[in-house]
Amino acid sequence: KRDANYVPLSPITFLPRAASVYADRTSIVYGNTTFTWQQTYHRCCCLASALQQMSILKNDVVSVLAPNTPALYEMHFAVPMAGAVLNAINTLMDAASVATIINHAQPKVLFVDYQYIRVATEAVRGIDAPPLLVLINDIDKPTGAAMSGASLEYEQLVARGGLVLARYPPHDLRDEWDSLTLNYTSGTTAAPKGVVYSHRAAYLNTVSLMLQWGIRHEPVYLWSLPMFHCNGWTFTWGIAACGGTNVCIRAPTAVNMYNAIAAHGVTHMCAAPVLFNILIEARREPLPRPVQVLTGGAPPPAALLQRVEHLGFKVTHAYGMTEATGVVMVCEWRQRWDTLPASERARLKARQGVSALSLAGADVKDPITMQSVPRDGTTLGEIMLRGSNMMKGYLRNEGATDGAFRDGWFLTGDVGVVHPDGYVEIKDRSKDVIISGGENICSVEVESVLYQHPAVREAAVVAMPHPRWGETPCAFVSLKEGNAAKVKEDEIVSFCRNKMAHYMVPRKVEFMDDLPKNPTGKVKKLQLRERARAFTLR
Ligand code: ADP
Repeated sequence: KRDANYVPLSPITFLPRAASVYADRTSIVYGNTTFTWQQTYHRCCCLASALQQMSILKNDVVSVLAPNTPALYEMHFAVPMAGAVLNAINTLMDAASVATIINHAQPKVLFVDYQYIRVATEAVRGIDAPPLLVLINDIDKPTGAAMSGASLEYEQLVARGGLVLARYPPHDLRDEWDSLTLNYTSGTTAAPKGVVYSHRAAYLNTVSLMLQWGIRHEPVYLWSLPMFHCNGWTFTWGIAACGGTNVCIRAPTAVNMYNAIAAHGVTHMCAAPVLFNILIEARREPLPRPVQVLTGGAPPPAALLQRVEHLGFKVTHAYGMTEATGVVMVCEWRQRWDTLPASERARLKARQGVSALSLAGADVKDPITMQSVPRDGTTLGEIMLRGSNMMKGYLRNEGATDGAFRDGWFLTGDVGVVHPDGYVEIKDRSKDVIISGGENICSVEVESVLYQHPAVREAAVVAMPHPRWGETPCAFVSLKEGNAAKVKEDEIVSFCRNKMAHYMVPRKVEFMDDLPKNPTGKVKKLQLRERARAFTLR
């Protein structure tokens, strides 16, 4: 009986449901192009059929290099519907990095948006068995772009599939542990690894995140977060689950985001903290209607949260990583915090939060004894995760997969504390902790003070060698426009002295126009550490 009633969990099932329940509602808006959920479902079935006609088999990898366009959204359903595994590549990578991923993922097909023809052409040059190339032209404003080596175009495939479209799903999913997508880590602390997601993990994470963020029916969701980043933190599938409208934009510029918010009545969006500065610098007036924003990917300093909330963005803070299908902790908002002063609310919101509903656990443990740290807000431990969200493993890398877990717990490499109310706060990545005279200094804590300075736009703190203390903090700071002549090193140092213990105060402050960042917007601390090392030699 149980066997007959077993239906595998898969986020793909949200699509036929949306086509039935929300048939005529707008599924996607992109420029002047719009689709309904019925149309999106039909187009995805067509593309899935076309892929099967191209002999794409179960577990084959299909890669794509594209910005947040309707095509990339559709591929999140169509590729798994054909039984294959979707690999959305980070479009900010250079050709050499894309080549590394293609060499490792070994896709059968590579879909290329016209904007990335040059990068893709360069990346596949020299690959022994290059993938079949499919060009994605702009559906809203066809450019007439051509790609040498690409014999097919995306819309041709959709049309071709329509001729033989028979049934849903073209591929029968029998097991929820089957592979759904392949996402490469952003490689902040190590070379990128290919993380394989199962249908089950993606389904559970999608549902749990929607519940914890409080997304209900028919939101208007702005695609400011790249879909290539952990499948858009699973909202690619989530927006189908709630019959929402996907507002697609090619690039998250301030103009594109604010225009989309005004034109389509955006209710929800995701944004890594780097986007906050873009939003803040382009606008002074609060929005006419509040927009819910989920942020994460890097620690959002409380001062920055306060500034962006002032504009009418209602921020929810989440923490996650590629290996855990995206979000694994959400700073669930408690009603009783509503009446607190703005700065206190921002401080509470800057905490990473509580375990995702779909996880068996997120805990902060002593990495040697594996015991949970006390809920005292001060004892540091490593954040460890366990349960349904976790990846199937790293593709073709059993050693790294085994090494990523201890006693069934995934080691995140993030260091944090647990507060008496059970909320977790990340203090640093273990590799970024500064050890000065035997004391641990968490770079995130020093950074959050620097962000309180009214002239500071961005700040990053790393270890600098010190003859007496071993290491000492060194700050890299970019200033808001018009402050370069006014604010000097002494001013920043004395600002810090008034707000933190002396051993934590940066011994050196270096100003930069922009901090170096990796393709997902994280500050390249490794590079800054090398620069800091040079200061002591001078
Ligand atoms: P990489 O590990 O290569 O940077 P990911 O994109 O998977 O790749 O990044 C996951 C890491 O990002 C986490 O381990 C953590 O260090 C950081 N991170 C993500 N969200 C947050 C957050 N809300 N606060 C602090 N750090 C975060």
